[in-house]
Amino acid sequence: MAGERAIRAGVALGIAVASGAAALIIGSDANAIVVAMVGAIAAVLVALGTVSDDAAETAPPPPAPALPAEPLISDVIEAVVEPVLIVADRRVVRANSPARALLGQHILGEDVRLAIRHPAAAERLTAGPDSGDDEPIHLVGLGTREQRWEMHVRRAGPSLRVVHLIDRTGSYAADRIRVDFVANASHELRTPLASILGFIETLREGAGDDPEIRDRFLKIMFGEATRMRRLVDDLMSLSRIEAEKYREPDQTVRLGDLVEEVRAEVSSIADRRAGDLVTAVADAPPVRGDRAQLSQVLHNLIGNALKYGRPNTPVTVELIHDGGPMVRLTVRDEGDGIPPEHLPRLTERFYRVDSGRSRAAGGTGLGLSIVKHIVERHRGRLDIVSTPGTGTIVTVLLPASR
Ligand code: ADP
Repeated sequence: MAGERAIRAGVALGIAVASGAAALIIGSDANAIVVAMVGAIAAVLVALGTVSDDAAETAPPPPAPALPAEPLISDVIEAVVEPVLIVADRRVVRANSPARALLGQHILGEDVRLAIRHPAAAERLTAGPDSGDDEPIHLVGLGTREQRWEMHVRRAGPSLRVVHLIDRTGSYAADRIRVDFVANASHELRTPLASILGFIETLREGAGDDPEIRDRFLKIMFGEATRMRRLVDDLMSLSRIEAEKYREPDQTVRLGDLVEEVRAEVSSIADRRAGDLVTAVADAPPVRGDRAQLSQVLHNLIGNALKYGRPNTPVTVELIHDGGPMVRLTVRDEGDGIPPEHLPRLTERFYRVDSGRSRAAGGTGLGLSIVKHIVERHRGRLDIVSTPGTGTIVTVLLPASR
């Protein structure tokens, strides 16, 4: 505003000077007088603009338009998607539809302690004016058993309170998953560690003097340490993949080449079943991907098919492209399959159908969770179809590179 005023004053001065100069050039006749007068009037008008601006700057803001008092409160709380109640003298005088859906249609006019049957809530809602109303209260037991609510109470007058309930079920579930994950990971690491420490103790107490026992114990300790290393590797993979979740992969990956490369790597490790691994790679466009992560997907899926497939039955890896926008990768085994009730939970961390079998086969319970995260990062889709007694087909769809 001050800048604009300075410009206007400058322009007014300019006009006055220019009109004076013009009058001098024209001379002292009537034309010169008219030019000087017009210039002076223009300069005054421009300068006056600054005076009216000053007035606008100091004038109070116009009053807000009046709102209709009564129906408005109900309309406003009805527009809130979470449950809101207005309580006057401990009675519920207004409740929006989410509040009535949660607490019952009958709550209007009811004592708020009956409407929200919860001891902590009742205490807060009946507390005196100096009770420091601000802290939210966490409520369990409203709605379904799993739901978690956060209740906020604010005073809107001597006897009027606004109660706002916020659904925290989602963040509570996320917290619980994180806590469970840390507990599971610690447990998975502690078991082999306890075993290793136990064997060290026994060896120190004299068992190590017998070379046969020592060798047997060392072999077990090596197995347990390897299990720990696999778990730590998978945990690190998971955290790396999660950290890169929102970074789009930027390599061009030819899946056909990758399938053959992984087949060679797996065959060299699992040479007992190397002959069971069959690949059928069709001509397919490349995908935009992270080569190391896609290799990990193949390793995990082929590893599972070999682990849970019956010995001497084929594990088939196929790459198919039907000309559509996605490239299809399938890994099929002829194992015992997975009962349908387990299918939705297979990609959860540490979820196993048969823990003993998974551990005996060197599983960490993290393989499919890693696969799911990688596929999501590639904007692909993971599908597991299984028939108990027949086998399992895992399909990964990945967008073809344009
Ligand atoms: P794990 O390291 O235990 O194999 P995963 O996350 O890779 O962990 O798999 C989770 C569970 O899913 C396994 O423990 C197993 O019970 C089941 N599973 C995975 N793949 C197969 C399969 N091809 N056939 C049968 N069961 C499977």
